[in-house]
Amino acid sequence: MRDTFLVFGQPLIEQAEMDEVLDSMKRAWIGTGPKVHQFEKDFAAYKGMPYAAAVNSCTAALQLSCLALDLARGDEVITTAMTFCASVNAIIHSGATPVLADVDPVTQNIDPADIERRITPRTKALLVVHFAGRACDMDPIMDIARRHNLAVIEDCAHAIETTYKGRQAGDIGDIGCFSFYATKNVVTGEGGMILSRDKAKIDRMKIMGLHGMSADAWARFSDSGYKHYYVVDHGFKYNMMDMQAALGIHQLKRVEDYWKRREAVWQRYMQAFADLPVGLPAAPEPDTRHAYHLFAIRVNEARCGVSRDAMLPMMTARKIGVGVHYLAIPEHPYYQKNYGWNPDDYPNAVTYGRETISLPLSPKLSEQDVDDVIEAVRDIVTGKG
Ligand SMILES: *Cc1c(COP(=O)(O)O)cnc(C)c1O
Repeated sequence: MRDTFLVFGQPLIEQAEMDEVLDSMKRAWIGTGPKVHQFEKDFAAYKGMPYAAAVNSCTAALQLSCLALDLARGDEVITTAMTFCASVNAIIHSGATPVLADVDPVTQNIDPADIERRITPRTKALLVVHFAGRACDMDPIMDIARRHNLAVIEDCAHAIETTYKGRQAGDIGDIGCFSFYATKNVVTGEGGMILSRDKAKIDRMKIMGLHGMSADAWARFSDSGYKHYYVVDHGFKYNMMDMQAALGIHQLKRVEDYWKRREAVWQRYMQAFADLPVGLPAAPEPDTRHAYHLFAIRVNEARCGVSRDAMLPMMTARKIGVGVHYLAIPEHPYYQKNYGWNPDDYPNAVTYGRETISLPLSPKLSEQDVDDVIEAVRDIVTGKG
């Protein structure tokens, strides 16, 4: 057994990030400044997109995106029952009504056929999530959007490296939202990015992300001289700091190296668990690129002889940090109470959420760490643990 606890999702922070943060401190420019602008440029270039707005979380990115659609009270936005709560809360904060669609039982991504069933005359937008880094089936989704005149927001929190039929995740719908939270594929501690080809929407989100102040407020502390700003809307305080961008600039340079490392760990897990009764992720779909953000096994009690909820503390006891991504949205009391959502109406998402365990999948893992994870899972599932 290991002697140190293996923290789930621990990022790999290297010397270049440390030097860059120190540089911000030495310059005493720690708020929004040149490093944020650099990171926006670099990230947009990596994704091949013309416009980017850095913000302080993907949650903020999703909220601003929903606001940018100018939804009215009573408008409906369809999203997935298998996601982090922020995807749903962003819709609620915009004043619109969230509507859930169930997921495909193989991919865990929103099921286009179920989207179609949940459309009403009030449906105005879709908010899709590329779950675990696997591209949603965007062709049928965009076809539905065109036929019903719906905007599409892509929650790319897991999907920086994801592509679908030669297109980048975040560049298929109208707006793409990315996360640099501490466990994500590129980290800034807290942080997010909004990408779009629609300059007017990006400009509006930048204004709404900084108090609703007119656009050049971003430059008001620069050396070009004091400028008055004017408040043109009641916005939020969602700007990214240079100290965060300092990490992101260097993390982004290694995004492909880190992806390769996670892919290797992914393949090791696939081989090591092939003979176990746990469910394993499906192979990536042809002509897509999986971002390998989460590696999850499915623990069905009847097949594995141990329940998911019993296995979680057994992994912790073996000093392996694990996660659950996620309990399905209709399991949470707030949504049940306020939207009447019943787990029985979303069987694929709910069953998955009750069986899933995410294993460590970070570029920081050593071969020994991966061996320890494999041994713990095998021992528990084969009854030795
Ligand atoms: C992490 C995550 C978010 C929120 O990202 P933050 O940057 O932490 O706000 C939103 N959606 C999904 C699917 C996520 O995994």
